[in-house]
Amino acid sequence: MIPKTHRRVVLARRPPAEVAEGDFRVEEVPVPEPGPREVLVRVVYMSLDPYMRGRMRDAASYAAPVGIGEVMTGGTVGEVVKSNHPGFKVGGIVEDRLGWQEYAIGPRPAMRKVDASLAPISTANGVLGMPGMTAYFGLFDVGQPKAGETVVVSAASGAVGQIVGQLAKIAGCRAVGIAGGSKKCAFVKDTLGFDACIDYKAEKDLAAAVKAACPNGVDVYFDNVGGVVSDAVFLNLNSWARVALCGSISQYNTTEPGPRLLGAFVGKRVTMRGFIVWDFNGKYEPARRQMGEWVRSGRVKYKEDIVEGIENAPRAFVGLLRGDNFGKLQVKLGPDPGAR
Ligand code: NDP
Repeated sequence: MIPKTHRRVVLARRPPAEVAEGDFRVEEVPVPEPGPREVLVRVVYMSLDPYMRGRMRDAASYAAPVGIGEVMTGGTVGEVVKSNHPGFKVGGIVEDRLGWQEYAIGPRPAMRKVDASLAPISTANGVLGMPGMTAYFGLFDVGQPKAGETVVVSAASGAVGQIVGQLAKIAGCRAVGIAGGSKKCAFVKDTLGFDACIDYKAEKDLAAAVKAACPNGVDVYFDNVGGVVSDAVFLNLNSWARVALCGSISQYNTTEPGPRLLGAFVGKRVTMRGFIVWDFNGKYEPARRQMGEWVRSGRVKYKEDIVEGIENAPRAFVGLLRGDNFGKLQVKLGPDPGAR
């Protein structure tokens, strides 16, 4: 039964620095009616991602900010519950960017059908979705690892990082993670099979810890966090190393630029390249098929951190920027039809 009203989360104000729960507002509004060639989607899993912090800021960026009073942007996996569109049947599972709300009208141009028989549907927001594609193209296309090289990835237990290290192993590299806390590090090493994991919160001399974990130096650094963690890796880069600049989460709640020890890049001929996952969207489907095979065969494992209820989304998002999540963070808004 489709309810008459549903809940959504809007941006209430722009945070000056650290994001707070009060920067969001939960609203109850009528469930919209789909028009011609439209569908109504019941959102099952809503993705929470660090980039959303950037959308809360009214500043020039590669994507437009969310306006005050507008629904927070974000990836979703849901079930079509009404359809006036010949391409989408009621009961079908779809991935789209429908935002922080329980029901939404689609399709947008990027709406994609998800085959619920292949993997749990939540993976369309995770290992088989945007974070998985980020890991795949960021490592293989930007990092260009070669067998025998050492790959270091920060935020190693997170949505992107956990996949990067496993792909580095598949490529025949030494994979070294950096993560916050012994529990996350144990998971990265023992469950995901990285060769080593450095707990950056426990190490007094992080550069020395990177050196010890990477006896042959660092050839590829997949940078998810920036700041002092990345500086410790920069001090250990080999000549001709590649830095895949994926994100700088340690800087998202600050207004001051973080430290960057880039001096040695000159003599070492280091290449540093930023990228946005959608630079590769023409190549997603073969990559997703390959990742799906690795997931089904158990070569790539994944961990999701699922919070229940849209009212808990603001708190979970604030926690994401502090490292409270353990794995790909999602909010479950209702029953999962794939799990029937
Ligand atoms: P995660 O699932 O890794 O969650 C974020 C993690 O970042 C936290 O769990 C925490 O892990 C770590 N973190 C938080 N604050 C800090 C800090 N101050 N210093 C160091 N680490 C911190 O998120 P994602 O995997 O989704 O994203 C990882 C990065 O990739 C982000 O920077 C994100 O913006 C970027 N990204 C970029 C994309 C692109 O197209 N370029 C696409 C997708 C993501 P811990 O407890 O280990 O510190």
